Amino acid sequence: MSSSPEVAGVDFFRHGALPVPQVTTQEAERIAASFGLTVRAQPLGSQQDSNFLLAEGGSVVGVLKIANPAFSAAEIDAQDAAAAHIAAACPDLRVATVTHGPAEVPVDGSPVGVGPIDGSRALARVLRFLPGGTLAGAGRYLSPRVVAGLGTVAGQVSLALSSFEHPGLDRVLQWDLRHARRVVDALAGHVRDEDLRDRVTAAARAAWSRVEPLAGQLPWQAVHGDVTDDNVVCHLERGLRTPDGIIDFGDLTSSWAVGELAVAITSVLRHAGAEPCSVLPAVRAFGGLRPLSAAEAAALWPLVVLRAAVLVVSGEQQAAIDGVNDYVTGALEHERRLFERAMSVPAEVMTGLILAELGLAGEPPQAPSGIAPALGRVAVLDLSPVSDAMDHGAWLEPGLADRLAAALLAEGYDAVATRFGEARLTASRVLAGVSPATVATGIDLWTAAPVEFPAGLTVTGEGNRVHVSLPVPGAPAVPPLVRPEYAKGWLALVADPAPLLGLPTAARPGQGDLLKRRAASFAAVQEHYYADPPRIERGWRHHLAATDGRVYLDMVNNVAVLGHSHPRVEAAAARQLRRLNTNSRFNYASVVEFSERLAGLLPAPLDTVFLVNPGSEAVDLALRLALVATGHQDVVAVREAYHGWTYASDAVSTSTADNPNALSTRPPWVHAVDAPNSYRGRYRGSESVRYSADAVLLIGELAGRGRPPAAFLAEPFYGNAGGMPLPDGYLAAVYAEVRRHGGLAIADEIQVGYGRLGRWFWGFEQQGVVPDVVTVAKATGNGYPLGAVVTSRAIAERYRDAGYFFSSTGGSPVASVVGLAVLDVIRDEGLQANAARVGAHLKARLEELAVRHSLIGAVHGSGLYLGVEFVRDRATLEPATEETMAICDRMCVLKIKPPLCLDVAGADFFADALDRVLAEGWLPAAMPSSY
Ligand code: PMP
Repeated sequence: MSSSPEVAGVDFFRHGALPVPQVTTQEAERIAASFGLTVRAQPLGSQQDSNFLLAEGGSVVGVLKIANPAFSAAEIDAQDAAAAHIAAACPDLRVATVTHGPAEVPVDGSPVGVGPIDGSRALARVLRFLPGGTLAGAGRYLSPRVVAGLGTVAGQVSLALSSFEHPGLDRVLQWDLRHARRVVDALAGHVRDEDLRDRVTAAARAAWSRVEPLAGQLPWQAVHGDVTDDNVVCHLERGLRTPDGIIDFGDLTSSWAVGELAVAITSVLRHAGAEPCSVLPAVRAFGGLRPLSAAEAAALWPLVVLRAAVLVVSGEQQAAIDGVNDYVTGALEHERRLFERAMSVPAEVMTGLILAELGLAGEPPQAPSGIAPALGRVAVLDLSPVSDAMDHGAWLEPGLADRLAAALLAEGYDAVATRFGEARLTASRVLAGVSPATVATGIDLWTAAPVEFPAGLTVTGEGNRVHVSLPVPGAPAVPPLVRPEYAKGWLALVADPAPLLGLPTAARPGQGDLLKRRAASFAAVQEHYYADPPRIERGWRHHLAATDGRVYLDMVNNVAVLGHSHPRVEAAAARQLRRLNTNSRFNYASVVEFSERLAGLLPAPLDTVFLVNPGSEAVDLALRLALVATGHQDVVAVREAYHGWTYASDAVSTSTADNPNALSTRPPWVHAVDAPNSYRGRYRGSESVRYSADAVLLIGELAGRGRPPAAFLAEPFYGNAGGMPLPDGYLAAVYAEVRRHGGLAIADEIQVGYGRLGRWFWGFEQQGVVPDVVTVAKATGNGYPLGAVVTSRAIAERYRDAGYFFSSTGGSPVASVVGLAVLDVIRDEGLQANAARVGAHLKARLEELAVRHSLIGAVHGSGLYLGVEFVRDRATLEPATEETMAICDRMCVLKIKPPLCLDVAGADFFADALDRVLAEGWLPAAMPSSY
């Protein structure tokens, strides 16, 4: 092993790997006592020092660290001083600073070492213990938010250490990326698998050849050197982890500042589901705090590869000398995986991606000037999700692009060309766990006659269909289609060949400012789904397509019951828009036909229909009807429900999930009864029959006080709780009581009605009752605003005397034909039966998951209205609120209300994905394994 120029501290090339000093628990407790701490010690694993967790009466008071004797006192002092320096510079970062020591202590065993302290003494100190757990647990998933948090911690540490100097930084560590190539060369011999050894060495050489020319431009400073998932500690609040602390300064040295980030992001790669692009949130967060230069950004991914290579060879070496150390042997597999992942995308692509992420990307490559072939009249073929050619699910049929091109050639065009950089929906797949490669790195060309292409273009394929691309010199092999997450990286390596074909250059995709524009013209209260939502511009059946070509399974859309873009609805609306659209005071057939059909679906005496637009309007009208029909002033509603946003529908909505102030801001005319939740409410299981008695009591009391309610309003199947049936007999008892005092029973069927429950078309059928007033919306128009209130003629007549009703667009000709088409499709496609069949299958799958995943407390629901309820504890039923949010952001759901055309394959895809997320998890509250 060749050594480096003389350094004051430890020199890896001189000393080699450092065996961990052997200190017994009893010795550790004795050493702690010398600091005045009467504690129990529990060993923590480590690669260099000997670490113990110190606990007093069950609570952790600190971490005892007995330094490897190979380290000088100056090196130890540097570490402690750096911790104190960072703590002072970043008050919001928790830092494992020293609380006791350092002191030289005698040790009985042999702290084998080569350092300045003799074999019977060692330097010991106690560090602050930071509770909350680390990010470790390589099998676990790290969310983009957590990855960004890791980048933030790395950035904070880097910024603070930029002003730190100390003689103890003069050391040569195996982990210092400036020495990475030498370390790999020195230790590669320990890698037993020959193929892996060759690949690791070659990768390190190639990466080094990228870093070396940049080395002169990479600033140096003090670096922690190990800001990884193992050493970043989290603040844990109600199930969500936020990285906010740093431990283990053992690898402190002076090195390239960008190395801090490289080390941090490499550790992300060993986590479940991670791939190279998963590190980008950390890069962005780091760059936001401590801007990276173009040279640093260019060196970053090669440094990741070098770090991965060092981890593989070091792990193998440690296993060879110290095979008993579980910490080391367990890590080997993860280090190999991490290396494979670092190598899974060409470094040039990652560099392009990182530069783009940091806003440092240069001008895109340009085609050189040249003489274009005479292609004649060229048609440009749009294969993107917004192309009309994708309508009616055409993108799902293989060979669409060829057929479209053939049709255009047959029309008389000489050539047909696709667009460079376009995300093609034709290249996508449904139910894909990993995003398919959709983004074109070149142009596909169909020509009527053979063409001579100019030199410089890469042309593949033959006959009348070729693929033309224009990679920059030295680029790795560029696939014709790449995954959208990596498109910016790949597109930095290819020019648009359009100019060399005599075609107009395509606009570069992905301005990504739509959310900003949305925020500028929307109020903050108008939220959107997901932290970082895809841009969805097309729907088909139970699938949604984003502009990057990725197709999502829609499990939340309770509006589009038939599925998205149903051709019969579209045709009906388009035809009617061409013919007539006006208001329902005109006399036309469709409004009558739809009202008749709707009333025909309801039992007597519900025969009179008011057509409106959204659900809120329907609920508002239903309440108004009840007030004027009864002359009463008060309304009884169920707690934890949502009925709409208008004044009256909001007043009866007491769901604190939808409005945190719902209970305190309720007007005095609204009286809430307990949510009849038989799973987690006041009465559970067989006790839940008591909910109706309480509600009856309240209604009686109100009547007794001279305020009999005008109405009792409830969802007849408890939607907000995830689709729970009400307790048997609940509505029968409460309806009877409210009616006894002259009030009306209103059933809000806006979510649960219209066939979604599978077994019942209406939710109230499950309870064996008939309400006085029913509200419907959402499903009624399959996304087109169409709602209705249906009641008896007698009740409707009383409204005549006390009010006025006219809704300009409610029941318009277009709304009415849409309403009719929806009912036709539900009938003709057997969607209620499908909801029953696929819903039963999905529910069984979810119940099976509940057997294996303790987070699932219960699976509620019927048909395709299902709810998976997550709990932290099945006995206390403590709600796992933040976990649910975290899972939803990864998974996208947990109230399950898909289009009713969902098929078994879609249901299985969903259940499999949920299974994976629950297995990989979101909450690895691991104890620090080193300090
Ligand atoms: N009632 C219920 C039960 C609902 O779920 C909703 C909407 N989530 C509404 C009423 C209000 O409907 P809209 O959003 O169409 O106004």
